[in-house]
Amino acid sequence: MTKAYYADYIYYEGKLEKEKYLLVNHFGNILGIENNIDLKENTEIVYFEKSAIFPGFINTHTHLPMVYFRGLADDLPLMDWLQKYIWPAEGKWLSDEFVYDATIHAVAEMIKSGTVCANDMYFYSSSIAKAIEDTNFKAVVGIGVLDFPTKFAKNADEYIKKAGDFLAEFENSRFITTALCPHAPYTVSPENYKKCIDFAEQNDITIHTHLAETEWEIEEIKSKYGKPPVQLFDEIGMFDTNAVFAHCTHLTEEEIELLGRKKVNISHCPESNMKLASGFAPMSQLCDAGANITIGTDGAASNNDLDMLSELSTTAKIHKALSRDATVFDAESVLNMATGNAAKSLKLENMGELKEGNCADFFVMSLDDINTLPVYNPVSHLIYSANPENITNLFINGRQLMENRKLTFIDEQAIKDKARYWQKKVNKC
Ligand SMILES: [Zn+2]
Repeated sequence: MTKAYYADYIYYEGKLEKEKYLLVNHFGNILGIENNIDLKENTEIVYFEKSAIFPGFINTHTHLPMVYFRGLADDLPLMDWLQKYIWPAEGKWLSDEFVYDATIHAVAEMIKSGTVCANDMYFYSSSIAKAIEDTNFKAVVGIGVLDFPTKFAKNADEYIKKAGDFLAEFENSRFITTALCPHAPYTVSPENYKKCIDFAEQNDITIHTHLAETEWEIEEIKSKYGKPPVQLFDEIGMFDTNAVFAHCTHLTEEEIELLGRKKVNISHCPESNMKLASGFAPMSQLCDAGANITIGTDGAASNNDLDMLSELSTTAKIHKALSRDATVFDAESVLNMATGNAAKSLKLENMGELKEGNCADFFVMSLDDINTLPVYNPVSHLIYSANPENITNLFINGRQLMENRKLTFIDEQAIKDKARYWQKKVNKC
């Protein structure tokens, strides 16, 4: 049966439409938008009055299972945080069971804050993908690659081999897009990056990696290879392959020009960069130079949440302050970073925008709350005043995953109990 979703505002094909109906067929695809519905037979109308419908957010950089390390270690620089706390905890606790439970928890948090898809980098990727499928969520799930051994694999060749098995396992999934995730220039050698490029090109998948996150990384790579990471990546062809680069915080003028000219996809994670004191990424310059800017939360251990609303708000504000120009990154352009730009960066067809033929991936924001009244411009509210409590309903592929703040496919009490169960274990180490 066709469904017609009425809302006071619908953000359709990149502009606000007033008092219309969004039509969705029973396959979960958008049929179009109508002014008034003399409704044809077989159409069910759902009213979202005093509300706005927006395309769901696509979080382009995260490590979903790290949600179980939220608040484990704070107020530390990146390398101390990683080496003294996160890597030891991961070494001790990661397993298929941990990763599956944590991913369900992460999905619940994302649904409740308007996200419909995440670009994830981690290990135990089959368990992540199973959790995504079991919750009817969508994700680009990438297998992490490192030079050194972990519980998951002993060297880069074995990580890449596991990626091959993973690709085959989820080849026909409606919920999962696969990717390869060499971690960062300081944990993966140029030779192994080249192997990743070859593997990704052979299998027509996206690469997802960290780049130029901290000053420490720039100095480390310079001392190891005699050149900064951006130059290293340029020489091995990383900017000529389909890839998403998280952070890009420390760049020279020439590097900004290069990344712009090559139209690279960047995942901007401002809150993680601020919390780990990594610095402010030059996103407005990268945007002007021609790079495709998208937004990610990073893992919930360094943010400390998976809330894209606050990430969008932070993005819109910090670059105004940094450039001392209030016109930089207006509300609509920031919304587009988290939707259309993100879908383009991940080659996600039929996503990132509400338009005919696309997947019905959207959320409903209340315009009847104290912090969303009065209403002059709902896009302004979305970026500058909304919080997750204002997101009332969410749909993926036309399926309702949240109804009046209640999750429809996830048992919230069960995931809270699981979180306490793992918290007790992790706390002991
Ligand atoms: Zn990251």
